[in-house]
Amino acid sequence: MPVEHAAIIGAGISGLTVALALSRRGISSEIFEQAGELTDVGAGLQVSPNASRILAELGILERLSKVWLEPDAIRLISGGSLRQLAAVPAGKFARERWGAPYGVLHRTTLQKVLLAAVSADPLCRLHLGVRINSTLPSFERAADVVIGADGVWSKLRQSIPGSPSPRFSGNIAYRFTIAETEAPGFLDRASVSAFLGGSAHLVCYPLRETGSFNMVAITAGNIAPQAWQSEPTEEQRTQLRARLSGWNAAIVSLLEKNRKLTFWPLFETTTGSWQDGRKTVLIGDAAHAMMPFAAQGAAMAIEDAYELAAFLSNRSAAEALALFERHRTPRIAKLRQRGAFNRFAYHAKGPIRIGRDLVLGLKPPLSLAADLDWIYGYRAVDLP
Ligand SMILES: Cc1cc2nc3c(=O)[nH]c(=O)nc-3n(C[C@H](O)[C@H](O)[C@H](O)COP(=O)(O)OP(=O)(O)OC[C@H]3O[C@@H](n4cnc5c(N)ncnc54)[C@H](O)[C@@H]3O)c2cc1C
Repeated sequence: MPVEHAAIIGAGISGLTVALALSRRGISSEIFEQAGELTDVGAGLQVSPNASRILAELGILERLSKVWLEPDAIRLISGGSLRQLAAVPAGKFARERWGAPYGVLHRTTLQKVLLAAVSADPLCRLHLGVRINSTLPSFERAADVVIGADGVWSKLRQSIPGSPSPRFSGNIAYRFTIAETEAPGFLDRASVSAFLGGSAHLVCYPLRETGSFNMVAITAGNIAPQAWQSEPTEEQRTQLRARLSGWNAAIVSLLEKNRKLTFWPLFETTTGSWQDGRKTVLIGDAAHAMMPFAAQGAAMAIEDAYELAAFLSNRSAAEALALFERHRTPRIAKLRQRGAFNRFAYHAKGPIRIGRDLVLGLKPPLSLAADLDWIYGYRAVDLP
């Protein structure tokens, strides 16, 4: 039976993108979002060419390009000496090599642009303030396919036997912003900079929409589960200080002085089934929340959304969901491995760090770019 109508749980990046992608295939959808309104949640987002290519196809790239920044490069910098270790060219180079732009923006900006497109689309209907628990509303039961785009704490998972579970990754993100006018000179206004030091790294880039730098430091750490997205306690600040020993004083003082630090424990999901063999499927963080060490979580959500819609366009739901899972699992597993490798390399200490710096120093920018071809050059199925 062809798929004509979908129910989507969650209006984050994956939920809104899948609604638009389904509409392109003539499939209507109802989206159920627990929030009464979509407010400023999250931080900055790097949108790599594999994702921006899809956003172009869905007709929203032009609006994003007007507000985002296309960084000149992604720079890896020593957190101790502030010396550049390596740089992957982006900007015009990204458009030429990977056929689509690399942009940075606030997550909310992307969500709002997606939301505007969904609201203008007669095949998509959004219901705000509707939280889906285990019982499904009657209008959802009429759907040919039910898509769980409800994030790392997904409730829809309960209806899929053997589905993944969330677990604390052992990593904490400390997030803050600095007004561009107050940013010290060593923060590059045209690039994404990742400062690397033993036990931690700090990613910084300017957000044009807010006139500020998005700053996220990631280290190992412990949590109380209820501490999600709160201000760090004095003890947690002390933990962070200890992780930054040996770092350049200018960076340490940026973190020390900033009283508005947000403490953000990072959760990921275990592996497990994403679909029930019938009509229910998970996408984005609901299926495979991952650590941000490769900056690919939202990009994977966008790829999932586009490819799921492609598979649903000409098959029964059961066939399409099985194919979707088979097709996406290896790519997600490979990205997780890259994320784990980056974590190891970014937080390296002692001789491993010295070796890392030597290897990076010897790699020409083109060779660094070639290492990323399989991620950024990826063309989702059915992309023209
Ligand atoms: C520090 C950090 C930096 C990151 N940087 C990057 C980056 O640079 N590039 C990148 O690609 N990715 C990045 N990511 C990952 C990215 O943010 C996520 O992978 C992505 O936002 C997941 O989108 P999603 O739509 O699947 O889930 P979510 O954004 O979590 O959306 C889920 C939606 O479902 C709704 N919902 C939940 N439960 C229910 C329910 N029961 N009923 C109804 N609605 C419900 C929620 O309110 C929410 O709106 C980063 C993540 C972190 C933590």
